[in-house]
Amino acid sequence: MAARKRKIAILGSTGSIGTQTLDVIRQHRDLFEVELVSARSSTALLVEQAKEFDANNVVICDESRYDTVKDALKETDCKVWAGVDSLCELVKAQEVDIVVGAMVGFSGLRPTLAALEAGKIVALANKETLVAAGNIVTRTMREHNAVILPVDSEHSAIFQCLLAAQGNEVEKIHLTASGGPFRTWPREKIAAATAMQALKHPNWDMGAKVTIDSATMMNKGFEVMEAKWLFDVEPSRINVVVHPESMIHSMVEFVDGAIIAQLGCPDMREPIGFALSFPQRLTVGNKKLDFAQLGSMTFEAPDLQRFPNLRLAYEALERGGNAPCALNAANEVAVAAYLGGQISFYDITKINEFCLKGLNFVAEPELSDIFETNREVAAIANGCIA
Ligand code: MG
Repeated sequence: MAARKRKIAILGSTGSIGTQTLDVIRQHRDLFEVELVSARSSTALLVEQAKEFDANNVVICDESRYDTVKDALKETDCKVWAGVDSLCELVKAQEVDIVVGAMVGFSGLRPTLAALEAGKIVALANKETLVAAGNIVTRTMREHNAVILPVDSEHSAIFQCLLAAQGNEVEKIHLTASGGPFRTWPREKIAAATAMQALKHPNWDMGAKVTIDSATMMNKGFEVMEAKWLFDVEPSRINVVVHPESMIHSMVEFVDGAIIAQLGCPDMREPIGFALSFPQRLTVGNKKLDFAQLGSMTFEAPDLQRFPNLRLAYEALERGGNAPCALNAANEVAVAAYLGGQISFYDITKINEFCLKGLNFVAEPELSDIFETNREVAAIANGCIA
């Protein structure tokens, strides 16, 4: 008898991680069933996905688009809902086995917490939830015997390397970074870079927010925070190394100097597939690594002069409390403004730095403080832009 299919709820199914998750599921319809798809505002693709995968529940977070989705699905069995509150309720359902957290930014926090409170397995791509509220998110996970499986490629790699740890303590995590599209550019040229240029990531196919964060290296700073919370490793033991080929997805070093690395061609379907089917491995349709063809791999230290956001991230993490949440809030507003052509590349850092300096610091924030900080700092950042 075949094993029962795993039922998947995808928060943010129309984004880059969401569509790649559905692509993995499409290749393994015998293993997975789509219980829920949701999107912020992309109605046409959401409807198409709901039909193709015969999703039981469909959530459009932008409530003003409910009628459009409802109408487009009126001939189907799909139940249509609107708003993030619906999402928070639906992820708790008995029917859901795995929740894929693929929403963008802070918006993913509430539904992720709801899934963890219900003791679900959360395949987490939405790193901002851990950046903003890492302590609360991991505490909620432990209290409800929930599980977070990393989908971020670096953290999936670390997770895979740790399977070799056999209880030995981690000496160091080496978090690899591609360096982004501006790795070799001089500072003056980066200063004038447009969002179009920043969106051309050399190796990874990702959404707009994370691609800009990669170009500023804020993404790597957030990943240091994510690693701290997921693996309980102090920031001083997390080393960022630029590795332009992106073949090594990250490494773990032990006390004897032995380093375990996880490698593969950069393709997000690999960490997605591993999170969905853990501990089994699936074919996901990716290209396989050919060492002879690759020839060599290179490494360099990150340049904090040209990529100051990485320094800010370490500072915020060092300060702790609600500082990482504030940095995330400022950055979210700044990146949106940069994408909209309102500000320049290094204005992102200026806004981030300004918001961190003026922060109303809370050493041990509860969830209400996190929401308050997010709201307050976003308002200050918007004020900077105006
Ligand atoms: Mg990553």
